[in-house]
Amino acid sequence: MLDFKEIVRPEDWELFARDFLQQLGFFIESSPDRGPDGGKDLLITETIEGKVGQYQFRWLVSCKHNAVSNISVSETEEYNILERVAGFNADGYIGFYSTVASSGLNNRLKQLKEAGKLKDFRIFEHKLIENYLISIGFSTLLMRYFPVGYRTIKPLHVIFDKYYPLECDVCGKDLLESMFDDKMNGIISFVGRPISGNKKFVDDIYIACKGKCDKEKENEFRIKGLTTNNWNDLKDLTNSALFIKYIMATLNQLQSGNYEYTKEAFAKEKVFLLKMSQKVLFQMNEEDKERHKSLAEFGLI
Ligand SMILES: [Zn+2]
Repeated sequence: MLDFKEIVRPEDWELFARDFLQQLGFFIESSPDRGPDGGKDLLITETIEGKVGQYQFRWLVSCKHNAVSNISVSETEEYNILERVAGFNADGYIGFYSTVASSGLNNRLKQLKEAGKLKDFRIFEHKLIENYLISIGFSTLLMRYFPVGYRTIKPLHVIFDKYYPLECDVCGKDLLESMFDDKMNGIISFVGRPISGNKKFVDDIYIACKGKCDKEKENEFRIKGLTTNNWNDLKDLTNSALFIKYIMATLNQLQSGNYEYTKEAFAKEKVFLLKMSQKVLFQMNEEDKERHKSLAEFGLI
């Protein structure tokens, strides 16, 4: 899904590694400024909670950007692992790679750990990094380092105080998050009484996975004498043009007087729009955030 070749220079890959690991909660001890030897590993620490206290675990991070050549990182490329870890007084080793680690390198690291020479190791390979980048909280990083990927992936981002999932009313699955998996999709469905004259009634709204969950809700309402009179595909509504058309259509219907929402249905509609905006709208930049904050402080919004 993501093209790691979007990051061109190895130096930028190192800066990306620093920002990514910081976002994951590591403390960055030393930034990847380049020394005369042509390369510098990154040093990071994390606080580990023990049974009686906390202690610091220091990782040496080795960044390798082989995305262009698309070759795995081998043992020969990662020489002197133990010496490098010891030289920085680190406890563990992290490989941060835009491809994968070769099986030889993986085996070598396992051996070092089993022999007690290395306390621990982790490999962040391209797929694992991608999985993090499409999850909530990483959209700023994605936008900064992968501008093309950002537009394709449409990551979820926090607009409000926190992220609000758009859950299926039946199984509880977060349908916004599940859209990263192409097989999954959901709908928003409008339930109402039979039309009287020109007037349509929206008695209730539900969000459900397509198929089984949707059928279950449909049956539930049918028993109450209500039917589904309209529905929209959630994936379509992630398209900004279709999303704004949906909002316009809703406003027009309300203004025409031919549509009547119950209080509950209208409240659900508003919450739905707010949650969807976490996927459809663009990530705010720092200037946007500041402007929003100052208007909110003055009580203007
Ligand atoms: Zn469901």
